[in-house]
Amino acid sequence: MEKARLIYEGKAKKVFATGDETLLIVSYKDDATAFNGQKRGTIAGKGVINNRMSNALMRLLEKKGVPTHFVKELNDRETLVKKVAIVPLEVIVRNISAGSFSVRYGVEEGIVFSAPTVEFSYKNDALGDPLLNEDHALALGLADRKELEEIRTYALTIDRILQGFWLSCGVTLVDFKLEFGRLPDGSIILADEISPDTCRLWDSATGKKLDKDRFRRDLGGVEDAYREIMERLEQNPEAAE
Ligand code: ADP
Ligand code: UDP
Repeated sequence: MEKARLIYEGKAKKVFATGDETLLIVSYKDDATAFNGQKRGTIAGKGVINNRMSNALMRLLEKKGVPTHFVKELNDRETLVKKVAIVPLEVIVRNISAGSFSVRYGVEEGIVFSAPTVEFSYKNDALGDPLLNEDHALALGLADRKELEEIRTYALTIDRILQGFWLSCGVTLVDFKLEFGRLPDGSIILADEISPDTCRLWDSATGKKLDKDRFRRDLGGVEDAYREIMERLEQNPEAAE
């Protein structure tokens, strides 16, 4: 499958049309941004890691019955995916307090929740991706009630599968962001990516951050952390194709 035309360049990926109008090619960049694009940088090798990690995790989810956009890894940075109409929601699942949750509610990071939380942000860079509730999403026509329920159920199923997977890699899944999309038949599938850019992943033994917070917070060792988390994944037989 050949890239026919660049249709979108985002902060972390380029998206290309292909000869098949139902398929796209995504190409992962090393560019990193944070705080709604205010902080910019490069993480050498990130694109390769995020591409391969996202594909491995989506294959695992597919095996466990979660439909995803993944079709085929084309090379180190490029993957063929099913084209969807993205539901403009950032679906965030949290198992442990961190990041904007801690800031918003004034609590320390690291509080283990008795049950996961699901929250939605309106995917809109110009507005800074504001938090919204299901009624707001319905009022704005971003999705219907049945779709929101399905997205929530998928998000919690994905959390259960990924928590178990990362635990067996010695890694704690703190929180993550998902995006879903609609296929032409209206069904909802998981799209975009699952990577250290979109998840908080802490070494279970030491608490060391193995994700984009090292970039956001200038903690150093960013490239090494991305390499380390990828090695942990590759050493887990569950991630084998
Ligand atoms: P951003 O748009 O936030 O800068 P990226 O750089 O990751 O993000 O760009 C990738 C874009 O492609 C995102 O807008 C994402 O919603 C979109 N996307 C991801 N998967 C698919 C898909 N299967 N079909 C259509 N669009 C997709
Ligand atoms: N996240 C993301 N993209 C966003 C916002 C958040 O991938 O635009 C991820 C982030 O990496 C973390 C989780 O979603 O794993 C929760 O992020 P949070 O709301 O705490 O925001 P942040 O601290 O990143 O501002």
